[in-house]
Amino acid sequence: MARYTGAVCRICRREGKKMYLKGDRCYTTKCAIDERNDEKRKGTPGQHGMARKKVSEYGMQLRAKQTARRYYGLLEGQFYHYFELATKMPGKAGENLLILLESRLDNVVYRLGFASSRAQARQLVLHKHFTVNGQKVNIPSYLLKSGDVVAFTEKARANETFKTLVEQNSGRTVPMWLSSDKENFKGTIERMPVRDDITLDVEEQLIVELYSK
Ligand code: SF4
Repeated sequence: MARYTGAVCRICRREGKKMYLKGDRCYTTKCAIDERNDEKRKGTPGQHGMARKKVSEYGMQLRAKQTARRYYGLLEGQFYHYFELATKMPGKAGENLLILLESRLDNVVYRLGFASSRAQARQLVLHKHFTVNGQKVNIPSYLLKSGDVVAFTEKARANETFKTLVEQNSGRTVPMWLSSDKENFKGTIERMPVRDDITLDVEEQLIVELYSK
């Protein structure tokens, strides 16, 4: 499956915000753009990164789309596929888009605190460490629905590495639409998320405007 393999912190620098793409490192002063880091990298990447640029309407729409796409670690084609699905659903296309992205199995594994980043969650799913309603699923894009139960496999539960991983991430807040049973290494989709549940710093309407041109 194709994915971005370049420098991850560069993405945060490009978008000008912490996007927590690297897991544990993002919460330390080693983060390239952390306020507490004395060697904080300023500006966007590249030779003209420090130059002040006036952002056009198209530029803002593009940045909104790139931010959302990069949060979920998707390539352009994959992201656009979700947009097409979102436009066919009842309701607002922008909100539908975010709900679809949140419903991905790799995102839910991350949100439940079973992985330090979405990239790690994706890898764990690909390596068959999770079940959905008791069945092994190794498709990161698998769309979950209300009532689904996501759990580590029996084998993974017995593995010390995964126990430590769950412990390390136990401090993260689990969104209201999910419930996490860390003792038993499982979580449930209590209900589908609504826009207010999704703490994503992005104006989804700009994405809709971009793709509607
Ligand atoms: Fe972004 Fe994390 Fe890198 Fe900081 S450490 S720049 S939050 S990916």
